[in-house]
Amino acid sequence: MSMLEATRHYFDKAARIMGLSPRIERVLLTPSREVKVECTIELDSGDMATFIGYRVQHDNARGPMKGGLRYHPHVDPDEVTALATLMTWKTAVVGLPYGGAKGGITCDPRMLSPRELERVTRVFIDKIHDIIGPHSDIPAPDMGTNAQVMAWIVDQYAKYHGWTPGVVTGKPIELGGSEGREAATGRGLFYVLEAVLADLEKKVSGVTVALQGFGNVGSWAARVLAEAGARIVAVTDHTGGVTRADGVDVGALAAHVARTGGVKGFDGADALAPERIFGVDCDVLLPAALGDVLTRETASEVRARIVLEGANGPTSPEADEILRGKGVLVVPDILANAGGVTVSYFEWVQNIQQFRWDEARVNQELRRTMVDSYGLVRRVARERQVDLRTAAFLVAIGRVSKTKVMRGI
Ligand code: NAD
Repeated sequence: MSMLEATRHYFDKAARIMGLSPRIERVLLTPSREVKVECTIELDSGDMATFIGYRVQHDNARGPMKGGLRYHPHVDPDEVTALATLMTWKTAVVGLPYGGAKGGITCDPRMLSPRELERVTRVFIDKIHDIIGPHSDIPAPDMGTNAQVMAWIVDQYAKYHGWTPGVVTGKPIELGGSEGREAATGRGLFYVLEAVLADLEKKVSGVTVALQGFGNVGSWAARVLAEAGARIVAVTDHTGGVTRADGVDVGALAAHVARTGGVKGFDGADALAPERIFGVDCDVLLPAALGDVLTRETASEVRARIVLEGANGPTSPEADEILRGKGVLVVPDILANAGGVTVSYFEWVQNIQQFRWDEARVNQELRRTMVDSYGLVRRVARERQVDLRTAAFLVAIGRVSKTKVMRGI
């Protein structure tokens, strides 16, 4: 099942419980705009290369559309649409005044030089600059993109529209980025986990975590969790895996990844075959890489008590059922990893107000947003006797459909 079909499945499940009218359902499911553009650049070798870029704007009933840009070989129209849809539900679950969008370029950023990445980013913005903007659609980093890519976008967009730092979030601090944005998704995962564990009368200290992905989300989650006393017992990425029962030294692993490009070969832990990450004996499994990694096969191997979804769309509906059957608590992506878009919102607010917040204020507001949103989702889950994912969709669909009706369809 594709990520788009999986997202649709979760939507349908909540829509049935709410008794949503088919007409509203169709409006909510149909993206507002889907754009596909050709991005041709000259490579450093002098050859030409053509890449395809996408931007899907799903819904703007609650405000400007918001969503990351992914540079990855697997980027395709269905995946971008699924991710754009998830952004609509995510911004609604945490109550941000945004809709949802997503974009990307089908390319392998590891195979492109920094100059080539810059060229393809600028050509992409040449093609889509008139449909993005601080009051219409605001991109941000996702897999394969980072603050540097956002800086190029600010510069290219300025050539058409003048200085407008609020056109993207996740920028370098010097260009109007926010303190705490880089760590925000990982830190948000920590705040949600802390609240989930408090419900179970447990603490983060001493909890064991297995982590798939050690990029922005995974490495920051690992750092914040380790600081709070959790043990990161296994980490895998696209290069390999490592494991250590008394906890990997996260700082040393991050230094190794910065030096070599991946976790493989880290000498502070034993090697672990990447596909074994799902069966690691631990309290929390944290997928923070690709979508659709928890499938019928891998879900049956899971030994963790909690799955905390750092990645977008990591769990197939079949896997979701299996995990529920095993008594595993799944904390859904649209809630768990919303810390990134939450601090993106704080960055945008600071850009518009031309006023800076310090990191303590950012983290305090982030904690409040994540803990309150989890509290609401948990309450709905208990009242409606449903799992956390269905409850999160109930909250999100309820909020979006209400504003659509208020505005007049
Ligand atoms: P990133 O590019 O910084 O890191 C991706 C990580 O995934 C890397 O460690 C990479 O090695 C690993 N990876 C890639 N292919 C893999 C494979 N086949 N097996 C194991 N690991 C693999 O990306 P990111 O920004 O950390 O995003 C990770 C996930 O989190 C994505 O699903 C993204 O949509 C989601 N997410 C990101 C943010 C954000 O603020 N960056 C916010 C919410 C959700």
